[in-house]
Amino acid sequence: MSNRSTNSTTKISTFILTIIYVVFALSAVAVFVAIGAFYQGEPIETTISLMAIGFITMAMAGYILFQSRKRMASLKTENPPVITTIECAKCNIKTTREFQRGDYVFKELEPCQKCQDQKQMITAIYREVKEKEKPVTV
Ligand SMILES: [Zn+2]
Repeated sequence: MSNRSTNSTTKISTFILTIIYVVFALSAVAVFVAIGAFYQGEPIETTISLMAIGFITMAMAGYILFQSRKRMASLKTENPPVITTIECAKCNIKTTREFQRGDYVFKELEPCQKCQDQKQMITAIYREVKEKEKPVTV
């Protein structure tokens, strides 16, 4: 399947990802400070608490990342696929496939697989709307 993310979802993801990366960086700093404190002979409690802060923050950032990925995946499935119809004028064979970049109506494609003579042509491009299944969103 091709990537069908819209502009709005990519905007949200970039925003969330930036925050997550900042949080990850801060948690990494906390862990490094904890290691530094350990080697500088600071009390072990300081190292342990700094380590804990680092790892808890890291776990939280990872959880948010996981949740936003899951949410984005569900948003993507709500977007109905764009279908391209290909026809052979000679033997009237109609085939459909998912829309590919560069597709346009009346575009000539590779020769027909059946007659090996006539070039296949794109006759329609449309968005497939499924009325039956409605994705469950929380
Ligand atoms: Zn044909």
